[in-house]
Amino acid sequence: MHSICHIEKCSACSACVNICPLNAISMQEDKDGFMYPAVDNTVCINCGKCTKVCPAENPYEKRDSIICYAARNDNSEDLAKSSSGGIFYSLAKHYVETGGHVFGAAFDSKWEVQHVKASSITELKALQGSKYIQSKIGNTFRETEELLKKGKNVLFSGTSCQIAGLMHFLGKEYENLLTVEIICHGVPSGKVWRDYLSENFSTDQIGNISFRDKRKGWTNFMVCINDTNGALLSGKKYTENIFFKGFLKNLYLRPSCHNCEAKQGKSGCDIAIGDFWGLEKHTSDFSDDKGVCAVICYTQKGKDALDKAKVIKQVFPYETLVERNSPIERSVKPHPKREIFFAEYSQPVSKRIADFTKVSFVQRVINKIKRIIKK
Ligand SMILES: Cc1cc2nc3c(=O)[nH]c(=O)nc-3n(C[C@H](O)[C@H](O)[C@H](O)COP(=O)(O)OP(=O)(O)OC[C@H]3O[C@@H](n4cnc5c(N)ncnc54)[C@H](O)[C@@H]3O)c2cc1C
Repeated sequence: MHSICHIEKCSACSACVNICPLNAISMQEDKDGFMYPAVDNTVCINCGKCTKVCPAENPYEKRDSIICYAARNDNSEDLAKSSSGGIFYSLAKHYVETGGHVFGAAFDSKWEVQHVKASSITELKALQGSKYIQSKIGNTFRETEELLKKGKNVLFSGTSCQIAGLMHFLGKEYENLLTVEIICHGVPSGKVWRDYLSENFSTDQIGNISFRDKRKGWTNFMVCINDTNGALLSGKKYTENIFFKGFLKNLYLRPSCHNCEAKQGKSGCDIAIGDFWGLEKHTSDFSDDKGVCAVICYTQKGKDALDKAKVIKQVFPYETLVERNSPIERSVKPHPKREIFFAEYSQPVSKRIADFTKVSFVQRVINKIKRIIKK
């Protein structure tokens, strides 16, 4: 592969694919299930645009927030369908209702995830909810630029690296663009996801996947997979779902996620949203376990958008948001056996994840003692 950036830094943001004037770059999956840009050398003219646009090679400076909130959507139905406080939906709804467009991640027919454009409420619903698999950006940066140049209002949402990719691709500020970063602790391997699905289900049979079903509460969320008639095929607490377990233990995250170059405002976003874990220590408001977002405004434009949205919000210091949510600031460490997991990869992957995430008796005792001391 032609080297656009240092491979271990590549987040698959796809800025290089979108900027290439000759469409010489495409994303291809490596043996571990992560997408990387590949250059067709028979087409490439060595113009260097791909390297210049790369956010991993040319990261923006760290920025401080201007104000932070605990916030949630004031509509209970919209809140129930969102992963945390439904802030994405409350911001996005205004755009599609006023002739604007929203970009974000949706499942495709194979239950993989693609970035798509939503211009109506029906299309927007597909973007709601976290999908814990890397979303493929495709040509959406180009689409966004075209709409912006036509004067359309656009909300672009994505993980920090994707927002950094878009901002580098655009190369200038647009008054009619709002960028919403989804706080992210890392994206798992697409291959592991596909193998997990095919071992346990037939993809034709699946009608819906919710990684963050709130029927037992926001904090005790379930991973639910339903069939095309709406019947539950699998519904387990997140700690019991084997794919989610390996994801949370950082067993198969993308290499660049362990050294993310786009955190702490470096993505260039207007606003960043995540879960407000641990808020109950500071206030009894929002304590009904229906979900609440941690919202970080980096620009006045981001703050104004939140002020206009139909949300309930309360100001908190940045430090409070980060207290129980370190991925806002820092990359997570890989699972100590991540390398072996991939080097000796074998199926059934569900069994392999179970073996690698098993906690020994001694570790269980240590964990219990730690919990008692903490209390
Ligand atoms: C891979 C991943 C890891 C995350 N890790 C953390 C974390 O460590 N800490 C934390 O506080 N929050 C994390 N989040 C964010 C959290 O899950 C919620 O998405 C966020 O709190 C917004 O919630 P909401 O209720 O406002 O919106 P929701 O309706 O729940 O989320 C929808 C938004 O998420 C976007 N989205 C969904 N899946 C993807 C994807 N695969 N790639 C890019 N964008 C996507 C949609 O485009 C839309 O903008 C993560 C999200 C993802 C996708």
